[in-house]
Amino acid sequence: MTASHRTGPPTASTAGDGWEVVSEGSSADELRDELWREAAATHLLYRSPARAVARCAGCGLVAFHLGQGTFVIVELTWSGRQEEPPRPALTQLPSFDALRETMARHRHW
Ligand SMILES: [Zn+2]
Repeated sequence: MTASHRTGPPTASTAGDGWEVVSEGSSADELRDELWREAAATHLLYRSPARAVARCAGCGLVAFHLGQGTFVIVELTWSGRQEEPPRPALTQLPSFDALRETMARHRHW
């Protein structure tokens, strides 16, 4: 019905099932801090100014906004320490629409 087109980060109404929106604040900082711990110097996201926007309640995947409309979905290991690249595994998404489609397709079975 509506022709509105969202270009911002996901909100509760647009995130797919099972995804929790991460608001700016301590939980977003916590997710970025874990990303920084895990991403070694040769990892694409090493010290990236990524901002967590959503996480999957089922498996812990985290969607980060990298700025300029690009996103990544990262499989954080939650080891709390530096991982061997290519871990933590990531999926690069060139637009919010690509992120939204990937989140909507995400299933655990
Ligand atoms: Zn999941």
